[in-house]
Amino acid sequence: MVRNIEITTNEIFDLGATDLEFKEKLFKLPDIDIKSLKYCFQCTTCTASCPISNAFDLMPHQIMQMISLSLINKVINCNAIWLCLTCYICQERCPQNVKITDIFFGLKNIATSHGLYPKSIKLFTAAIYENGRAIEVTDFQEEEREDLGLPEVSPFDKNAIKKIFNKIGIMKLFKSNDKGD
Ligand code: SF4
Ligand code: SF4
Repeated sequence: MVRNIEITTNEIFDLGATDLEFKEKLFKLPDIDIKSLKYCFQCTTCTASCPISNAFDLMPHQIMQMISLSLINKVINCNAIWLCLTCYICQERCPQNVKITDIFFGLKNIATSHGLYPKSIKLFTAAIYENGRAIEVTDFQEEEREDLGLPEVSPFDKNAIKKIFNKIGIMKLFKSNDKGD
């Protein structure tokens, strides 16, 4: 199937509005090899490989370039970082070994710290906080599993998940953003 994807833009960017503090923040994120970004030569392989880029408002290669230019508002407000399936195809295929998907995770963290996240993320997070799972397993599903010869969904320590979330402070962050609504 041939997909039509806009890989270039006629938009004029105000480079005077760049935010270097943002790039510094990104560089400081643990476990994200943001330095790999400097090897991006804009070949667009990431965008061409992405199974969902036609739904993105910014293409992966554009996001990489915009980070290089420190265009914070553009990248943390785009829908692409949230629609990304985290399939890692772009990262695996990048000829320059740029850690695109990992960088997307970093962008999501920064967007969240600025209160920029889809409502569904908050709802899923709250469900995981309360039940330990994004979707609770119902009696009906357990019966279906039994009919299919599958074992019961194993129980686990919900408090352990709460502890992790409390340590990260994510629920607090959501609450403080709610006050500003
Ligand atoms: S595939 Fe890699 S080098 Fe090519 S545009 Fe994407 S990030 Fe840059
Ligand atoms: S990880 Fe995200 S951006 Fe990369 S190919 Fe998959 S969906 Fe596209």
